Amino acid sequence: MKNTTNSIRLVSLLLIGFQSGSAVDFEWKSHDREQPLPPVIEPGEFSVGDKAGTPPSDAIVLFDGKNKSAWVDMNGNPTKWIVKEGALECVPSSGYIRTLQSFGDCQLHVEWATPKEVKGNSQGRGNSGVFFGLGQYEIQVLDCYQNTTYADGLAGSLYGQYPPLVNACKAPGEWQTYDIIYTAPRFSASGELISPAYITAFHNGVLIQYHSELSGPTSWINRPPYVNHPEKLPLAFQDHGNPVRFRNVWVRELGKKSKPEFYLSESKLDELAGVWNRGHRTIEITRGAFGTLKMTLGGQELVLYATSEDTFFAKTTDVIVHFKEERMIEISVGE
Ligand code: MG
Repeated sequence: MKNTTNSIRLVSLLLIGFQSGSAVDFEWKSHDREQPLPPVIEPGEFSVGDKAGTPPSDAIVLFDGKNKSAWVDMNGNPTKWIVKEGALECVPSSGYIRTLQSFGDCQLHVEWATPKEVKGNSQGRGNSGVFFGLGQYEIQVLDCYQNTTYADGLAGSLYGQYPPLVNACKAPGEWQTYDIIYTAPRFSASGELISPAYITAFHNGVLIQYHSELSGPTSWINRPPYVNHPEKLPLAFQDHGNPVRFRNVWVRELGKKSKPEFYLSESKLDELAGVWNRGHRTIEITRGAFGTLKMTLGGQELVLYATSEDTFFAKTTDVIVHFKEERMIEISVGE
């Protein structure tokens, strides 16, 4: 018995030894008074029943019950989804909607309600979805209250990949919440996957996805591999033919502060592509993948990301491009 106790002590000491040799490389000393304090925010209020709560003061509000201007159809044109009684409601057959702004790592809060009047079965009952990565990675929205379907298609599933840990669905018509932590996948400059996407999610406050690693885009029947894409892309809601409603939608960007990025409409991007006048010279702008533009400067091909309707920037070098009136372009370097 004594030997057993000693062995436990020895193992504990060894474990402590290993722990003290941990690889965590702290930037600050323990209790360093020079370490900056985190920002102070107002945390907002939780929603209770039909009464919508309020977002934290540092959140980007994507839908406040009235204004749908943060949302467009998948081509970047105004959406046909309607605002009714404080909710953004899917109009069947009008298509998915996406945000104008793009997001990478983030905390997303979404409230949704499936139709009170129950129609259809399995995947046909109150189906919608919350997507990251411009429609690539879906966390399922479905009426799963006394409705049977396959496990990896339940509400809160990462569709076709991971069932939720539990089915925490409320009755049809009732407001439900998703609080989702999304880690965007990372790709190298040559397009190889460096790290996959991860999702942690709570449904009505209950953990349903715990750091689930996506194998690639979520899809029906198959599990396709990743496709190289920018870290930040729009969020989207699915039109699956059911009038599912959304309210109190807000997002908080995580990680280092960076410029806001937008995914402009296809028609606007087409308009910006072409030849522009730069003083007495010209420069050609072309379309890139996923809402980007491209240009060649100093022999370098640069990928340009929109930070507003008329301003783009490169991430690999300090170049900012301003599109002006009368087909004039201003390129500033080292701003
Ligand atoms: Mg769906």
